[in-house]
Amino acid sequence: MALTALEIYKLLPKTNCKECGFPTCLAFAMQIAAGKAGIDQCPPASDEARETLGAASAPPLPKVVVGTGERAVILGDEVVLYRHEKTFYHPTAFAISVSDALDGDAFRDRIRRIRSLSFERMGERLAVDMVAVRCDSGDPARFAAAAAAAKEGAGTPLLLSGPCDALAAALPSLGPDRPLLCPPVGEGDAGARLAAPLGLPLVVRAKGIDGLEKALAAARAAGVRDLVADPMPASLPDAVSLSVYLRRLAILHRAREVAVPTAFDLGNGFPSPFAAASLLVTKYGSLLVLDSDDPADIFPLLTLRQNIFTDPQKPIQVEAGIYPVGKATASSPVVITTNFSLTFFTVRSDIEASRVPAHLLIADCDGMSVLTAWAAGRFTGESIAKILSESGIAGAVSHRTLILPGMVARLSGKIEELSGWRVLVGPQESSALPSYLRRLPPAAFAPADA
Ligand code: SF4
Repeated sequence: MALTALEIYKLLPKTNCKECGFPTCLAFAMQIAAGKAGIDQCPPASDEARETLGAASAPPLPKVVVGTGERAVILGDEVVLYRHEKTFYHPTAFAISVSDALDGDAFRDRIRRIRSLSFERMGERLAVDMVAVRCDSGDPARFAAAAAAAKEGAGTPLLLSGPCDALAAALPSLGPDRPLLCPPVGEGDAGARLAAPLGLPLVVRAKGIDGLEKALAAARAAGVRDLVADPMPASLPDAVSLSVYLRRLAILHRAREVAVPTAFDLGNGFPSPFAAASLLVTKYGSLLVLDSDDPADIFPLLTLRQNIFTDPQKPIQVEAGIYPVGKATASSPVVITTNFSLTFFTVRSDIEASRVPAHLLIADCDGMSVLTAWAAGRFTGESIAKILSESGIAGAVSHRTLILPGMVARLSGKIEELSGWRVLVGPQESSALPSYLRRLPPAAFAPADA
């Protein structure tokens, strides 16, 4: 049973020393009760308080680690229901399935295609996280060989899905790699007996919340600590409502019995798998298994995930400075924009598409986009004039002409007045930059004293 803020407050030193970063002990107690702070943040707390509150402040959704090393996947470990309350910490993981019934070349080709599902966006590498090896052959030895080959070829953590005799056959070589075991319904107890002594994570599959509660209790009783729940939805609405229901039980009601990360198998003929995946990325799916290895299916999901799992309090940003694009020279145009990553990468790729070498001048606007930074007073005539004089761009080019985003055209007069640079108003949308840059006459960037 979760403690209330008042019960937590009674255990705190009540000195309001502020060492925890909150103005009073009561404010801190309320943060602990909401799962947004931990007792470790209170240095003067007594041992009794630490012991009592350690459990109370444990994340309402436990953490489950699959795999080892740099590519280990963390499921769960979330503390809020809505991203704006704090942040989401661990993105929905994607596993792409491979069948052990594929023959050698087809199997290797499938693994190669899964491995190639890796893209760069906004300076981040987006990739699928796991390979789900399905036992379709019914042959434990074949499954074990397929799992070993998947590990070797993909280099990602594995989800092993199959009957327990097949899982047992694969584990001697894969156990240290901490795969996630997923036995079928009806073999949950045998799966728990397999996972418990090795300390491996286990997917518990059962229909609905009640079924899961019983199955999870049985797995815990067998000694499995790291559990993931698959509520086995039959349809898209079923999947979303179960996912939301389970997360609300974990975060709002602290229902420890069913508070575990979730896994949804959206392959094997699941209806509308990509619509379901899109909704489950936004609504609490911890792990999604898909059958498609088509980049056209996977890239939009990875993009959606990237957007949802950024910290709303920390916009993704690049460093301010001068970025030459192409073989920029002293007579190349200077284009200015803000340091919001999406803005930076979009503008840079549009300049590249123009094939006109240019200097991209990036203003530090705390990761805000152009209009947001302008509205917040971070991208103004004064701040841009300051950048022109302090960034070193005046030494990098022989002209004094700046291309300003069209959305803030109104700043041009102030910039010219304060900096002495001539301002050309660029297009409203970055996508128009290629044709805009190609149309500019070279005379626009003649040396300043010419
Ligand atoms: Fe109170 Fe502890 Fe915070 Fe100090 S650090 S204000 S004692 S909760």
